[in-house]
Amino acid sequence: MSAPNKSYDPVEVEALKPEEIERMRDEALAAFAAADSLDALQEAKVAHTGGTSPLALANREIGALPPHAKAEAGKRVGQARGAVNKALAARQAELEAERDARVLVEEDVDVSLPYDRVPAGARHPLTTLSERIEDVFVAMGYEVAEGPQVEAEWFNFDALNIGPDHPARGEADTFFVEGPDGGADSGVVLRTHTSPVQIRSLLDRELPVYVICPGRVYRTDELDATHTPVFHQVELLAVDEGLTMADLKGTLDHMVQSLFGEGMKTRLRPNFFPFTEPSAEMDMVCYVCRGESVGNPDRPCRTCSSEGWIELGGCGMVNPRVLTACGVDPEKYSGFAFGFGIERMLMFRHNVDDMRDMVEGDVRFTRPFGMEI
Ligand SMILES: [Zn+2]
Repeated sequence: MSAPNKSYDPVEVEALKPEEIERMRDEALAAFAAADSLDALQEAKVAHTGGTSPLALANREIGALPPHAKAEAGKRVGQARGAVNKALAARQAELEAERDARVLVEEDVDVSLPYDRVPAGARHPLTTLSERIEDVFVAMGYEVAEGPQVEAEWFNFDALNIGPDHPARGEADTFFVEGPDGGADSGVVLRTHTSPVQIRSLLDRELPVYVICPGRVYRTDELDATHTPVFHQVELLAVDEGLTMADLKGTLDHMVQSLFGEGMKTRLRPNFFPFTEPSAEMDMVCYVCRGESVGNPDRPCRTCSSEGWIELGGCGMVNPRVLTACGVDPEKYSGFAFGFGIERMLMFRHNVDDMRDMVEGDVRFTRPFGMEI
């Protein structure tokens, strides 16, 4: 049995020679330094620190050395691996910092650049308010009815008991459409109210009739803060057996409560319209002060001028002459009608001071009303 080879020198094992270890270390350091991306560094890491890397293989050789040689070889390899790991971590941190800086630059958003989206407009509040009113009546079983804006005089006046001598037929109020000869007696006008739609509805439909007629109407007014030559009305018409003023009053109460909130009341004041008999002006209790400003100087109300009531529109029982003109038997049927201006309701409902704002088409006016659909 031979004695252990005490003179076994790790230097003699090729992989453990100091210059070999140094070369392996330097190759690893050079590979890390040359890696220009985190992916490349990952490859270099596998090649120089993985289980089959030269330094790992050299490390395995140590186990075969005699004990006295192990320490020296182990120290040499350990130092080299330490240096390699340190360089790897340093390069890793360096490349990560570069990546982060690059992401900051590449994904930078300049919030001061002009944006290229077309700004969204808004629906006109006259449209949305009109639709909201329609909804109230459609929920009660009414039908929405429409008619032409260029209307025959008979529908606009005669059928509504507005005779040839009525002041409303004068040229002071009405836009007359020129006839082929250039004269104003073509018998055609721009409708001055939505009431002709009531006549058309009675002629077109089977009884009973329950319709709501929203639409654009025309009068020869100058455009100013409280007038416009083109404006919008909503009219309702109910013709059935046994309808009374009580039905009208109940319908109006329901409408103002639906539009302005619970507890709203209406009142009727006698008036005259050719197409209704009896006729009334309809007021609703002021929705701001609810009447509490009346006789109370400590709490004045701008909306109703401290009168407690706001005039909303005209109404009444359909004149039997109108029913007759539409072929409806006034002995059997009765009806009620009600009409008001949407601009006016928009003015006091939303504190709009100037009617011109509604017609000028400035989106700064419409946008605050929101995108109600
Ligand atoms: Zn008030």
